[in-house]
Formats: sequence, structure tokens, C-alpha cells
Amino acid sequence: MQSLSKEFKKRYLGLLEKSYLNDELFLPDKIAKYQNQRAFIDFIRSLFKIKWVTYAKRPFAGPEQVLEYLGRYTHRVAISNNRIKSIDNNQVCFEYRDRADENTVKTLKLSAHEFIRRFLIHVLPENFMKIRYFGFLSHRNKNWAVKLIRQLIGPDIIVPQKIEETYLEMMQRLTGRDLLCCPNCKKGRMTITKGLPKQYPDSS
Ligand SMILES: [Zn+2]
Repeated sequence: MQSLSKEFKKRYLGLLEKSYLNDELFLPDKIAKYQNQRAFIDFIRSLFKIKWVTYAKRPFAGPEQVLEYLGRYTHRVAISNNRIKSIDNNQVCFEYRDRADENTVKTLKLSAHEFIRRFLIHVLPENFMKIRYFGFLSHRNKNWAVKLIRQLIGPDIIVPQKIEETYLEMMQRLTGRDLLCCPNCKKGRMTITKGLPKQYPDSS
């Protein structure tokens, strides 16, 4: 691990310096002083002197595990409503799975502030994306590229059928929850009796 740290530091700082000299770095107000080359080189040197710690993790067992892992994060919110059990006296009580303890479901109580703080850690900064498609799946390419790829694969290709279903059926399939089931008594069926007006009347 130590030699990995050294090697990583060398390569990282080397590439950083290279990008700087190629004028590829954007140095906004806060770090504008590094537009001065002398200052930047001194900064890189100071980073060299520090001992770096490189964290490496055992690789995933295979593509299935990668999908399994990523799938939990890519299309979901950090916590779903049904895991929140109660909110009172500025305390939020919710369920979580303790992976260290054979995935047992446990409950945790946090102050509202702490809960919100932890939740907000999962909100991406502006302009950050959870998923960026590239290559033949990038938005610009996918229409023609996927068509072409299918042609090239030939007539034997099995294209997955698009599932025709309502949003209610989709939620049932994906989450196992019946959206029309009364959340209060868990027995009654909810029916739509009236829609909200599309636009609220202008209050001015
Ligand atoms: Zn009910």
C-alpha cells in the first residue's frame, strides 16, 4: 500500500503539473494566486513532501455485482418515505439495514438537523450528474448508433420488448407497493374523485 501511495502521488502530481503547463486548469478566484507559475510549482512541491495515503478497495466480483451495487444509488433517493417511521419532537426515527450485522433491519433516531445534514450529503452539487452516458450511448449518438449496432449484429438479434404498463403497474413491479392501497388502514382502495386545477389562480 505504501508503494502504491508513492506511485499514485508521483503520477497524480505529474499529471496536474502537466495540465497546468498546458494551460488546461481553471483557477477561479479562490485559488487565483496559482496563476503565477512560481506559486503553483511551489504548491506542487509542498504536496510532494506530504505523505499520501491511497485507499484501494478489493475489486468487485464481476459485472453483476457492479450493477447490483450501483443500482442501489443511481436511480434512487438516499432514503425512501416508507423507511421513515416517525417524526416528532424534532427527532426522526428511521429504519436501516446494518450490513455489518447480517443485514438486520434496525432503527435509528436522529435529531432533525442531523438527519437533514446526512440527507444533504447525498445531494449532488450543481452540474454534477450521477450518470453520464458516453460513447454510443451518449445522447448525441444513441439514436443512430444503437440502430446501426443492431443492424451490424444481424437479424438474429433479440431486442427486449418494451414493457407496456401504467405507472401504477410499474410501481407495483419495481417497489412491490400498491399506490392505490389506503396508507391509513392498509385495506381500502383509493379512487380519484377530482383533479386539482392545472394552474392555481393568480394571487396578485
Ligand atoms: Zn383507509
